[in-house]
Amino acid sequence: MADVETTNQSILVVGGGMSGITAALEAAEAGYDVVLIERNPYLGGRVTQLYQYFPKLCPPNCGLEINFRRMRQNPKIRFFTMAELSSVSGQEGDYDVSIKLSPRYVNEKCTCCGKCAEVCETEIDNPFNYGMDKIKAAYLPHEFAFPMRYVLDSSIAGTEDGKKCLEACEYGAIDLDMQETTFDLKVGAIVWAGGWDPYDAAQVDYYGFGEYQNVITNVMMERLAAPNGPTGGKILRPSDQKEPKNIAFIQCAGSRDENFLPYCSGICCLASLKQTTYVRERHPDCEMTIFFIDIRALDRLEDFYTKVQEDEKVTFIKSKIANIAEDEETGGLVLEGENTRTGEQILMNFDMVVLATGMVPNQIAIEPPPDVSYDEYGFLTNDPEKRGIYGAGCSRRPTDVASSVQDATAAALKAIQSIARR
Ligand SMILES: Cc1cc2nc3c(=O)[nH]c(=O)nc-3n(C[C@H](O)[C@H](O)[C@H](O)COP(=O)(O)OP(=O)(O)OC[C@H]3O[C@@H](n4cnc5c(N)ncnc54)[C@H](O)[C@@H]3O)c2cc1C
Ligand code: SF4
Ligand code: SF4
Repeated sequence: MADVETTNQSILVVGGGMSGITAALEAAEAGYDVVLIERNPYLGGRVTQLYQYFPKLCPPNCGLEINFRRMRQNPKIRFFTMAELSSVSGQEGDYDVSIKLSPRYVNEKCTCCGKCAEVCETEIDNPFNYGMDKIKAAYLPHEFAFPMRYVLDSSIAGTEDGKKCLEACEYGAIDLDMQETTFDLKVGAIVWAGGWDPYDAAQVDYYGFGEYQNVITNVMMERLAAPNGPTGGKILRPSDQKEPKNIAFIQCAGSRDENFLPYCSGICCLASLKQTTYVRERHPDCEMTIFFIDIRALDRLEDFYTKVQEDEKVTFIKSKIANIAEDEETGGLVLEGENTRTGEQILMNFDMVVLATGMVPNQIAIEPPPDVSYDEYGFLTNDPEKRGIYGAGCSRRPTDVASSVQDATAAALKAIQSIARR
């Protein structure tokens, strides 16, 4: 049972990505008690899985670490990982919420010595690397994880492997009897910062994602480029681990299409532009082609687009690729489509394809759903008539980190106003 007391002067923040962390810190630094819950075993959200941020190409972990330090120094924030909202009742200024905690099987005594992973024989798909590699079922989610603590996958909890981990731990940090628990809180306002999931690229069946090994998505490319990713930062073809000589980036892969994801995610053009710089850094001779409908790079980000256009090995072709076929012998990919500027048919071969897929909002998935509004695409709208629960960041619209942080600051202020109105 979690030891946390709150009142209707407290704020609950759901989602521990950049938006949730920001909302929690801003509210706590204004003097409010905040409980932050995150369903993953670590905080940081999707940005922990990015290699670099556009346009400055700096590592996300620097910014995250500054925020984690602010959190450590602020006793007004309590946070829980592997935690999800299971119910909400009440209204603005007076909510009763229930939080479900999944068992981690590892307590705060963990020193990250790694002995449990050494003896554990079971392997699982690594969720941090989008399943591109395997990890032991006793694992540290990633090397900058906050909190820095191992997790035991529930699949080994009642097994011999679980017992081996328990015996290997010299610090009494493993508890195989941990169970799912719930605890209740009173809060005056809620910030929903559940963020986004990548659009399921397999839905766009004519691109062969899931079938052709060398068709990957933009989020997977971030992991391939990351030094703590599945290839140690080497950008290699998944099928044969060879250096790609040419790579295609397909923009709007499923996006802006009534059959799949009707809206523009606003971010995936910049993500592909950024990823060309990852490739250029590793493979100076690799040719890259970006197939696009329009390139969305507004305001100061236009300069970044201009810089990538100056790279003579990056070609831009205005086209919606209609089909990808695989050469089974080589693992190469044949792209078909039409150049919409010249009308010419496209039939081009590539070693690897990166699908620039969009962002899908994570909604408040509980029954009965709390009284909030969504737009036609499922993003929270923060209707002024409905006060008390406020969306922040990518749960409100697909956007970058800087805008998410601004939006989360605004959501923290809205939450404070809800409490002040009582
Ligand atoms: C390929 C790609 C590259 C990108 N590169 C950049 C870049 O270079 N620069 C940039 O500024 N932006 C970039 N972005 C955008 C960036 O990832 C987002 O702006 C950022 O993740 C938004 O943070 P967030 O906190 O709103 O959402 P998230 O990062 O998704 O965090 C939400 C958190 O909420 C948690 N959560 C969800 N549901 C629940 C629940 N029910 N209970 C508890 N917790 C829950 C999730 O586990 C997650 O930790 C990129 C996006 C893509 C697709
Ligand atoms: S759980 Fe125990 S054995 Fe595993 S890393 Fe932590 S301290 Fe080491
Ligand atoms: S940001 Fe670019 S790739 Fe993404 S949906 Fe919009 S136009 Fe398409």
